[in-house]
Amino acid sequence: MQRISVFDIFKIGVGPSSSHTMGPWRAAERFLRELEAAGSFESVARVQVELFGSLAKTGRGHGTDIAVLMGLRGEDPAQCDTRRIGYAIQQAQAEGQIALLGRKPVAFNPDADLVFHYDRSLPFHPNGIRLSARLSDGSTVDGTYYSIGGGFVVREGETTGEDESPPPFTCASAAEIADCCRAHDLSIWEMVRENERAWRDDSDFDAGLRRIWATMVDSIYRGCHADGDLPGGLRVVRRAKHIHRKLMNGATYADHEAWIEAIRSRPRTFQDTVKWVSCFALAVNEENAAFGRVVTAPTNGAAGVIPAVLMHFVCAHQASDAETLRFLLTASAIGGLFKTGATISAALGGCQAEIGVSSAMAAAALTECLGGTVDQALMAAEIAMEHHLGLTCDPVGGLVQIPCIERNAMGAMKAITAAHIALESTPQNARVSLDTVIRTMWETARDMSDKYKETAEGGLAVQIPVNVAEC
Ligand code: SF4
Repeated sequence: MQRISVFDIFKIGVGPSSSHTMGPWRAAERFLRELEAAGSFESVARVQVELFGSLAKTGRGHGTDIAVLMGLRGEDPAQCDTRRIGYAIQQAQAEGQIALLGRKPVAFNPDADLVFHYDRSLPFHPNGIRLSARLSDGSTVDGTYYSIGGGFVVREGETTGEDESPPPFTCASAAEIADCCRAHDLSIWEMVRENERAWRDDSDFDAGLRRIWATMVDSIYRGCHADGDLPGGLRVVRRAKHIHRKLMNGATYADHEAWIEAIRSRPRTFQDTVKWVSCFALAVNEENAAFGRVVTAPTNGAAGVIPAVLMHFVCAHQASDAETLRFLLTASAIGGLFKTGATISAALGGCQAEIGVSSAMAAAALTECLGGTVDQALMAAEIAMEHHLGLTCDPVGGLVQIPCIERNAMGAMKAITAAHIALESTPQNARVSLDTVIRTMWETARDMSDKYKETAEGGLAVQIPVNVAEC
């Protein structure tokens, strides 16, 4: 809500990490665009990139080095050919140069010009990146950026969230959302839509939301039809395809629409529902781990939760196109509350900030879409987050695979459970509010050891021996 658009929360991009892949990618491109705007780009003779804190510690596993190079090349993460991403570093190594913004070749040696400061952090945020350019007259220009979670990037000293066109409803808390919806007789999704009208017209807006959903569906589809090991050296075997094949039991389909219809017509026992939801979540996050195209929701590590719950809504509840868009709107409002009231950055808050937030977003959206009241939707978000509090981030080998991929299935199932509990509850009797749980999450984040904040220095990350390949 506030001044965060639904398109800030849901962004089409590339795996495996919004903070460690998408953020540095955008920061590198932004640095060059700023040089371009200042008229210095054409005289750049050399660039150097330094990664600090969590970006250095888990950067290789999260593909930060590759992402930075893609950003320097001016590639668009929403549209680039994902099959070519892995070649970025090999090409720079082989040729000893990189084409800045795709058009200006300069000498570049990834081993010397891409520096990982494993023992240094910058003060503002654990995900710091500094870029510097040496110009042909011998002078140097630099810029420091922070990847603050969910693909959001801020430049040193920059403030976020202010917009010249303030939306009509700027709610800073769940209580304000509830009051506002009551006062104006709106549901959460209607309120978000009114806010978005301050920034773009309805047809652009609907088209953008449909692109988001189509990308989510495509990531599920691709994940359900791909097999083999995931990249990075952990030898994690993809499982979504196997589960999908068993559930489809020979059903055939020609395209995505026919595929969804085929899933809708499959028998649905309780076990089947659990398997379908898990399959959807695994599919997206296997794609994410394989540098595939996914939607940040609100992060890449948690990119499977919302598509899995929404696909469940579409297939098991026969949701219409309009209901699908409403789901995304409500979910974005809850994501905005966590982003402003706590964090969606695992480097600040651990996995509660990723899987916990996505689960809360999905729970509220499903509740409202299944006919729940605003208070029940907010309650569902509270229930979902309450049972993720304290969840640490401990990715084995610094890769977004173990425990991340399965964790998306767990987050999706908790969201569905939370929605159904809320739908059978009277929110006025609840002892814990969504605002309380957001505050608690933030306090828990601040108390959490840095070992559990996307550094791969604690938890499962130090229990499992790995020999992670540098990709
Ligand atoms: S453990 Fe959670 S927060 Fe950490 S990388 Fe994996 S999904 Fe993201």
